[in-house]
Amino acid sequence: MSLRQVSSDGSGRLLPVKIAVVAVALVGLTYFLFLKSADDNAQLDTPDSATPYVCWDDGHVFRLTPAEWERWSKEGRVKAEGSTEAGGGLNRNARLLVQCPKCGKFTCVRGLECPNGKTVPFVTRDNQAGKCSE
Ligand SMILES: [Zn+2]
Repeated sequence: MSLRQVSSDGSGRLLPVKIAVVAVALVGLTYFLFLKSADDNAQLDTPDSATPYVCWDDGHVFRLTPAEWERWSKEGRVKAEGSTEAGGGLNRNARLLVQCPKCGKFTCVRGLECPNGKTVPFVTRDNQAGKCSE
């Protein structure tokens, strides 16, 4: 019944308003889709988008999706170590360290998944490239 009412009393005066609403919605959708494709990683929250992280101290391995990473970063559980450039940008010597869920220290870096099933730090504490042990 309500559908019939809407269509029967839908006057011509409301039409421009409806078109405007639809147009705004379309612009919003396009903007959203554009942003999503332009910055896909920032939005992903699926298990296969998760990246492994390893703690230097206790070897604890955990996974964070890009969305979780962003959340952690907002909660202050990710911090930059090293120098930052003017304007707050990170220079190439800076490292982003994630707080370890196990020991609570900022000692976690991205992990490198090895063929043997182990995960080692992508970069070691003294800035060497992480290597899978044979
Ligand atoms: Zn730890």
